[in-house]
Order: sequence, then structure tokens, then C-alpha cells
Amino acid sequence: MKNLIITGLPGAGKGTQAERIVDVYGIPHISTGDMFRAAMQNGTELGKQAKSYMDQGELVPDEVTNGIVKERLQEEDTKNGFLLDGFPRTLVQAKALDKIMSELRKNIDAVINIEVNPDVLKARLTGRIICRNCGATYHLTNHPTKVEGVCDRCGSHDLYQREDDKPETVENRIRVNLEQSKPILEFYSEKGLLHTVNGEIGIENVFSEIQSLIG
Ligand code: ADP
Ligand code: AMP
Repeated sequence: MKNLIITGLPGAGKGTQAERIVDVYGIPHISTGDMFRAAMQNGTELGKQAKSYMDQGELVPDEVTNGIVKERLQEEDTKNGFLLDGFPRTLVQAKALDKIMSELRKNIDAVINIEVNPDVLKARLTGRIICRNCGATYHLTNHPTKVEGVCDRCGSHDLYQREDDKPETVENRIRVNLEQSKPILEFYSEKGLLHTVNGEIGIENVFSEIQSLIG
């Protein structure tokens, strides 16, 4: 099973688990959030389009998001599998992904849903720290770096907090994503692809559950 989707509310632990999945299984991590942030950083047209939505904690319009995913899934490195993170986030996106998959003669093998009580998400997001060099994710109290200010994974000193992880934006992000998530879970459940794991059992325990699913 190598064509995978990892899903869950903001702060559920998608990026944290994605980092471990791609290291073990050698498949590319395709995060639409990371793609938008890179576009913003590079000042491209896509970045300009995405910025106003991201700053408010709203979703970037489906046509824009579907377009970048379609392009990305045609790249050579996805040939032996991929891990989609943060996409699809709406039912329209899930249906668009089905169409992209059939055009590319591929199938989604599994959807891994990390389930976390929405009450714990705010503290996770406002304490999140990310390595700018390799993307590894830490938390000020839940999962600090071994040496303060130094990434465990790549040794970089360039750690940062995301602009949209401030308390004002976090609440809207959780609300928006909560509204959209239910129909997507139903969509994949009906297809028999949905695997839900408990996201509140510690990072390495969550990863063990995921590994036993992927095989
Ligand atoms: P997402 O990609 O779903 O938005 P992240 O993987 O960035 O979420 O995780 C959000 C925050 O929660 C990070 O600071 C991360 O270190 C922390 N975190 C992730 N998984 C767990 C867990 N199982 N228990 C406690 N904290 C976690
Ligand atoms: P993330 O890094 O997944 O938390 O996403 C950060 C932000 O990027 C979100 O709050 C949205 O504004 C935007 N974004 C990421 N993925 C999507 C998506 N699939 N659809 C719409 N907007 C997205």
C-alpha cells in the first residue's frame, strides 16, 4: 500500500507522522500547505493567491488547490507511491482527486485518519515549532528538540513558529476544517479505504499503529 492520504484536523499530527512515514517507506511527502508556504516564500503568483486565505485560516479555493496537486502527482518521484498530507480537505477536492487518479491510472490504497479531540488542538498548534531546513516538527512542551534550538533530524538551528499558528488564526482553522472533514471521512469510509488511528497516544505509538496498517 503506497498511494496514501494522511488526514486529520490541524494539529492532529499529520506532518509529524508524515516525516516518519517518508523516512521509512521512501515515498514523497506531498503537503499542500508546504507547497503554498514555499510559493509564498518565493513570491510566486500561486503564493500571492494563497496568502490572503492562509492568513485568515480559510481554505484556498478548490480550483487552485486541485491544480497544484494534479501537477505534482504527474512527477516521476510519485511513480512508486506518495503520501498526500492536507489534501483533500473538501468533498470537491476528494472527487477531483478521484478524477486525477483515474486519468493517471492510479488508485488510492488507504486513507489514514488521525483522530484527536478538537479541545487539544489549540495547544498543539500554538506550541508547534518547525525546522525550516528539513520540515521536522516539534512542540515546546509535548515534543521538544533534544538540544534547545537545534533540529534532532538534520542539525539545523533554523527553527520557527508558523505565522498561522497564532491563537487568533488557530481557532478559525480548526472550525473551518471541522466543518469540511465529516463528508470526506464518509466518502472514503464508503469506499472501504478509511483507517482511523487514535492520535492522542504519543508520537511513536501513533507511528507504530500506522506502520501496522501500511504493512
Ligand atoms: P498537523 O500536520 O496535523 O497540523 P503536526 O504534525 O504539525 O500536525 O503536529 C502539531 C503539533 O502537535 C506539533 O507541535 C507536534 O509536535 C505535536 N504532536 C504531534 N503528534 C502528537 C502526539 N501524538 N502527541 C502530542 N503532541 C503531538
Ligand atoms: P496546513 O499546512 O495543512 O496546516 O495548511 C495551511 C493552510 O494552507 C490552510 O489553513 C489553508 O489555508 C491552506 N491549505 C492547505 N491545504 C489546503 C487544501 N487542501 N485546500 C485548501 N487550502 C489548503
